[in-house]
Amino acid sequence: RANAERFEFQAEVSRLMDIIINSLYSNKDIFLRELISNASDALDKIRFLSLTDKEVLGEGDDAKLEMQIKLDKEKKILSIRDRGIGMTKEDLIKNLGTIAKSGTSAFVEKMQTSGDLNLIGQFGVGFYSVYLVADYVEVISKHNDDKQHVWESKADGAFAISEDEWNEPLGRGTEIRLHLRDEAQEYLDEYKLKELVKRYSEFINFPIHLWASKEVDEEVPADEDESSVDEETPENKSSEEEEDTDKDEDEKKSKTKTVKKTTYEWELLNDVKAIWLRNPKKVTDEEYTKFYHSLAKDFGDERPLTWSHFTAEGDVEFKAVLFVPPKAPHDLYESYYKSKNSNLKLYVRRVFISDEFDELLPKYLNFLRGLVDSDTLPLNVSREMLQQHSSLKTIKKKLIRKALDMIRKIADEDPDESSDKDKKGIEESNDSRDKKGQYMKFWNEFGRSIKLGIIEDATNRNRLAKLLRFETNKSDGKLTSLDQYISRMKSGQKDIFYITGTSKEQLEKSPFLERLTKKNYEVILFADPVDEYLMQYLTDYEDKKFQNVSKEGLKIGKDSKDKALKESFKELTKWWKGALVSENVDDVKISNRLSGSPCVVVTSKYGWSANMERIMQSQTL
Ligand code: ADP
Ligand code: MG
Repeated sequence: RANAERFEFQAEVSRLMDIIINSLYSNKDIFLRELISNASDALDKIRFLSLTDKEVLGEGDDAKLEMQIKLDKEKKILSIRDRGIGMTKEDLIKNLGTIAKSGTSAFVEKMQTSGDLNLIGQFGVGFYSVYLVADYVEVISKHNDDKQHVWESKADGAFAISEDEWNEPLGRGTEIRLHLRDEAQEYLDEYKLKELVKRYSEFINFPIHLWASKEVDEEVPADEDESSVDEETPENKSSEEEEDTDKDEDEKKSKTKTVKKTTYEWELLNDVKAIWLRNPKKVTDEEYTKFYHSLAKDFGDERPLTWSHFTAEGDVEFKAVLFVPPKAPHDLYESYYKSKNSNLKLYVRRVFISDEFDELLPKYLNFLRGLVDSDTLPLNVSREMLQQHSSLKTIKKKLIRKALDMIRKIADEDPDESSDKDKKGIEESNDSRDKKGQYMKFWNEFGRSIKLGIIEDATNRNRLAKLLRFETNKSDGKLTSLDQYISRMKSGQKDIFYITGTSKEQLEKSPFLERLTKKNYEVILFADPVDEYLMQYLTDYEDKKFQNVSKEGLKIGKDSKDKALKESFKELTKWWKGALVSENVDDVKISNRLSGSPCVVVTSKYGWSANMERIMQSQTL
């Protein structure tokens, strides 16, 4: 085309497209889900803008927030159109090719090992899945701020953009035309498409219409020329009908006759009732699971670990559904401090507002998925105003509380967790088998978030500490909790003992443990780097203090020989003090904490432990 401008795909995007094109992945249907999801996002965006500026919607059909799907059997084109926000020329260039998102290379990497293409949406590159079924794709788009443009690519490393001077004007929104590959012609089948759209649009809150054929009976004068009947789709007139006509012409008795006529009309394919508005008792586990999958763009076959669907009443009213995913996302702790606080979607009176609303949850709960729909928040204000709304504090507080309750319940209902405790009311039920081992699963995926929570959230520190799991010198490789630790404390033991280090193996050999283990004291082994920070914040639990056994101040039962020992080593201690005490060494003492080793370096009460020194060093390098 004369006015086309050519662009190269960014290198990672190009690699991604190659992978998709050459993929032997059999579930090619997923492209449709990705396109519907993008259309829905675009509709959400324009609806959000329209809250503060009605004009943006335009008039007539343009104001209808919907999607339309059309099949062109002759040209082998499947097209999906939305009346969403659309894309300017700049948007087309950036969003569809030149700017790689953070997920692009992560996804490419994943696909090269054992990746599942099904996860493409989670990595923010779902659009490119169109090349599973198409070898040529056109994206026609009209944004309020620009003219209509066409993006097109045969996935050969480049794409072209032209100002659109030949297609019908869209008004506003985007139409994606897939020129289907020979082996993907099945997507021109109406029935197949209906079935797929129904499956993939279950939780889409905008109507999706298909330009669908319909057989109708029509009375026509018997002697009329039939060729005008099927005006709309002459190609669909079957040869049988023509035979019928011949027969009728033979018997000229009847004046009218019935013929089957194929017409086309927009058929609504989905039901847009929001699941979170329904009564939780009437929503099945399977429906929640599917809802989770669509919300999290997590299309593995795993169920979420748990969920909580509730209505908050009172001054601030809202409905919410929270999910604990079955697995942590690939980058949960990689860029923790840069990532967004919450992955909840915020709706106000059924209108989607944002999925990047940091005011809903604290960062440590950013692994949760779900949504909040509030009737109390105002609809027609800017996002900035909304972020400052006083109700948000209450919503956040309630969400945290509910989230922590939900997590605690995983443990409470897990027979593995309660086996050595006399927890009441947990009977062997049908689903107790499903719940077995669930807390371990949770802990392995998200345990670090709980630790970060203890560090960040002073208000809920105790609740979070209850959720903590760890190994000890006596736990035999199993995880245990603080409550269980306390229930096993020796009589006379006042503090909760712990030690930090780089690995469990290293800790088990530590001279600091020698005597404690020998005397049968239980010591928590903390080997995750975050534990060192954790223990600066977790100073006590249920009236018990935490004592680092490598630090000054360790008290284990009095020993009658202590005094005599001190006396007999007085001279040696004095000599050592003279030789060692400097900026780095505060004191030299006789100790009863060792049994095999002759001496040990202990950290002063307020000093950094050796492990912390190591962590700090590695961070400044
Ligand atoms: P994601 O949806 O996770 O952002 P995609 O690869 O599916 O990733 O889409 C890339 C981007 O292209 C979107 O973020 C959006 O900006 C733009 N886009 C895709 N489809 C549409 C559409 N129908 N309308 C407007 N923008 C779209
Ligand atoms: Mg998408």
